[in-house]
Amino acid sequence: MADRRSRARRVGVLGLQGDVSEHTAVLAGLGAEPVVVRRPADVAGLKALVLPGGESTTMSFLLASSGLDAELEKMVADGLPMLGTCAGMILLSTKVLDGRPDQRCFGAIDVRVRRNGFGRQVRSFETDLEVKGLDEPMHAVFIRAPVVEETGPAVEVLAEVEVPGQPGTRRPVVCASGPVIVSSFHPELEGDSRLHELLLREVEGD
Ligand code: GLN
Repeated sequence: MADRRSRARRVGVLGLQGDVSEHTAVLAGLGAEPVVVRRPADVAGLKALVLPGGESTTMSFLLASSGLDAELEKMVADGLPMLGTCAGMILLSTKVLDGRPDQRCFGAIDVRVRRNGFGRQVRSFETDLEVKGLDEPMHAVFIRAPVVEETGPAVEVLAEVEVPGQPGTRRPVVCASGPVIVSSFHPELEGDSRLHELLLREVEGD
């Protein structure tokens, strides 16, 4: 029975580059069946997809060379539930500023992001965030993180952060739209499974 239940929650983790094993560990801990996705054949039967943190330019290049770009386009068009963290958020956005000219984004959520947008002085920082819908704050680790500069009308901002060094300037760092959730930071590095739980709820249609 347990096996049948986990198969019902077969969740892909884009495995071309980045913190893939951290996401598979979180998903396995939640009783889902994580599947590392490296080739088009790996997407069969997925109920959701996680796009990890790492380097969006490299992932974009490898998506094209592996042929997974077309599969990702289809999954976005089909409305598959997705979670993108950091570089994964960049890949799911509608517009990337300060990206490489040839880097792609797949428009799963209507956010415009600026790569490495928290500024040179503040390449990395950590903070505790209030996230809408979660009881306890989430410890957030930002590593050369993208800044969300604009959100479309369908996007719900679940958490914001004050930009370090810019008192009063707040930016969205967790956003959701339909079955897609993105964060500028890496909950998986902390072993925090709560955004993954939200993703699995989308799978179950809760
Ligand atoms: N700066 C990276 C990029 O452009 C994202 C960093 C991260 O995922 N920690 O993809």
